[in-house]
Amino acid sequence: MEPFILRVHDIIENTSVNGPGNRICIWLQGCDRDCPGCFNQPARSKTGGTDMSVDDLMRRITAGEYDGVSLSGGEPFLQPQPVRELLRRVRLEGMDTLVFTGYTFEQLKADPVLSAPLEYVDYLVDGPYMRDIESFCSLTGSGNQRVLRLADSKIAEDLTQSFSDGCAASEVVIGDDGQITITGFDDILLK
Ligand code: SF4
Repeated sequence: MEPFILRVHDIIENTSVNGPGNRICIWLQGCDRDCPGCFNQPARSKTGGTDMSVDDLMRRITAGEYDGVSLSGGEPFLQPQPVRELLRRVRLEGMDTLVFTGYTFEQLKADPVLSAPLEYVDYLVDGPYMRDIESFCSLTGSGNQRVLRLADSKIAEDLTQSFSDGCAASEVVIGDDGQITITGFDDILLK
């Protein structure tokens, strides 16, 4: 069987602003949208980034001690089958999964191709980034977006208010290779 390959923009380890607990966050490469004020322009091109197999990503994930794995982008649902496989294997390792997407949950559910990964998503941060709608939630970039807990590909709970303490956060992470990455959802990043 051909290995599952994902186009990856970047990976950050030991992040606490991209979901609950200590996480590894993988930004996937490629996005069809053109949100004004996009906070991750380099992740939009479909030809950028690096191909990585799900096997290699799982080796990296299981080398750390994480509560969960977050996928961002770019648009993770544009790579539905390898994303599904990655999330399935993350769950098997006992970690939770969180995916940031520009689609709404309802749009994903209505599309048989895009919806493939939903079965293995525990938290979905959904909806397009709309910079004119202020967010008070630490996990969303704009106020139209929601933090949803999913179970069996259905909305189990809307947790947006639970993460809305008015304190958006960002963090600076220095990797083993010295690379500095700034991540999060406060005004440093959202223009
Ligand atoms: S969905 Fe995200 S990566 Fe794509 S254009 Fe909008 S803000 Fe940028």
